[in-house]
Amino acid sequence: NLQATTTLHNGVKMPWFGLGVYKAQDGNEVIQAVKTAIKHGYRSIDTAAAYNNEEGVGQAVREALEESGLSRDDLFITSKVWNSDQGYESTLAAFESTMTKLGLEQLDLYLVHWPVKEKYKDTWRALEKLYKDGRVRAIGVSNFQVHHLQDLLQDAQIKPMVNQVEYHPRLAQLELRDFCKGQEIQLEAWSPLMQGKLLDNATLQEIADNHGKSVAQVILRWDLQNGFVTIPKSTTEHRIIENADVFNFELSSDDMEKINGLNENLRVGSDPDNFN
Ligand code: NAD
Repeated sequence: NLQATTTLHNGVKMPWFGLGVYKAQDGNEVIQAVKTAIKHGYRSIDTAAAYNNEEGVGQAVREALEESGLSRDDLFITSKVWNSDQGYESTLAAFESTMTKLGLEQLDLYLVHWPVKEKYKDTWRALEKLYKDGRVRAIGVSNFQVHHLQDLLQDAQIKPMVNQVEYHPRLAQLELRDFCKGQEIQLEAWSPLMQGKLLDNATLQEIADNHGKSVAQVILRWDLQNGFVTIPKSTTEHRIIENADVFNFELSSDDMEKINGLNENLRVGSDPDNFN
């Protein structure tokens, strides 16, 4: 179900399913999306300093806690340090700003948003400090390729618990998958729906019809069966409900093979080896 969790290598439990809020406007839009998701059973929210909506996320979390009888421990909140704040001291300062905006005592997961060259190791040291100080329950990276992880692991005292990367049937991330599995780094899928670009795919539609499910649900189920945490974005109530309704069916190995066959190593987002 929606509260099902994966156990990270430090023992912290992270929900398999969450709400992404990239491009959800701060204020009413993000507040309504987060509260709607929690009302329908979501327990994990993925934001970032760069999304400029941490204040709204924090307000929604506080209101949802007051109105629902849930406790803070029931929720899993992720944020990320933006590229221009990377470096040791600047990351510590960025974290304080994030926590002030969220209005939370402790964060569940803090990620290095992109592998900014020459900086991500210093950024990582800051995350290690925040973790050791108990400010955040788990730390991880985002958009790290195998070579970035290998480089980071040479100096890291703490291994990242999570790597959040672009992942959908057109970008199967096979090399990264093997590597992260071997290192016990939990993979998490961003743009799992390829930002809507896969929803008219005939192969996916056929599988969806066979299960009486939507294409979005088939893709999100494929994420889970491949061992990826997934965080689709929607601000529309019926889609927030639809996307999460993926715990009552199973894709066959034949279905999985067909979907795996759609891989073209194609990105909708930036290339982690060449971004600004
Ligand atoms: P997504 O693949 O989740 O697609 C979202 C789009 O699909 C939206 O336009 C939405 O309206 C539409 N949609 C959602 N559910 C649908 C449904 N059931 N039927 C039809 N259309 C539907 O794209 P995303 O927002 O880019 O990615 C999800 C989350 O991942 C983000 O919100 C963010 O939290 C995270 N993310 C992280 C990074 C990173 O660098 N770490 C980058 C991009 C996104």
